[in-house]
Amino acid sequence: MTDNGSRITGLAYQDAHIHIQDADSSVLQTEDVGRFFCCATSYADWQIVKSFSEKDDRVIPFVGIHPWYIKTQDDVDGYEERLREALINCACGVGEVGLDGTDKASPSEWQEEIFRISLMIAKDLKRPVLIHCVKRWDRLFAHLEQVGAHNLRFCVHGFTASREILDRIIALGGYVSLSFRGIEKINRLVAVPEDKLLIETDWPYVPAQAFGKKYGMVLKETYQRIAGARQVTREELQESTFNNAAAFMKGLL
Ligand SMILES: [Zn+2]
Repeated sequence: MTDNGSRITGLAYQDAHIHIQDADSSVLQTEDVGRFFCCATSYADWQIVKSFSEKDDRVIPFVGIHPWYIKTQDDVDGYEERLREALINCACGVGEVGLDGTDKASPSEWQEEIFRISLMIAKDLKRPVLIHCVKRWDRLFAHLEQVGAHNLRFCVHGFTASREILDRIIALGGYVSLSFRGIEKINRLVAVPEDKLLIETDWPYVPAQAFGKKYGMVLKETYQRIAGARQVTREELQESTFNNAAAFMKGLL
């Protein structure tokens, strides 16, 4: 627990996936946010993400390379050593890492190797992993099964995929984080089990429906709409997601 313990034991929002380094840092002034899981996307921002957490206890850093930003073979070759070193010296999670089958992504051999190493080290050092997956679900499950997902705390972020994929994630013990993206799909908002649900903005990378809204509005409206769909109060949702995040982070908060 941190100095902010007393401030965040009350009901608070938390953001399970944000890139503060790419945003106006005034997001940290948003009221009533008890935790920010701040994800790096390339080596260039690992230190920046860590420095936010040094200045503000509510920021929990995650380090990794996003599947769009693996630029060279050297990025891949040096990754295992650099990730281990970054984690050993810091109460960090692993992320944002994953697999992406769109044109924006880096070559798939590089993605697969970075993801494999990320899962292996996360398991080894008992760190939670925040995962991005687009159009590569079978490969994602192959990696999770290979590493032994039941001994890994992982969360698939910004989830908008099918019920079948959701069920496979849950069967492996994973968490699922929902955002404003696809928020009109009520069935999906309801389907995630209560003890596996996290809520995020992915700020500043919000979908078009959220353009023009302020950060705090997007986060609060996401909670409000998910609470409404699930027929629970906002306070109940805050409490359950707060507890889920503590279980996901286990020992790192
Ligand atoms: Zn992200």
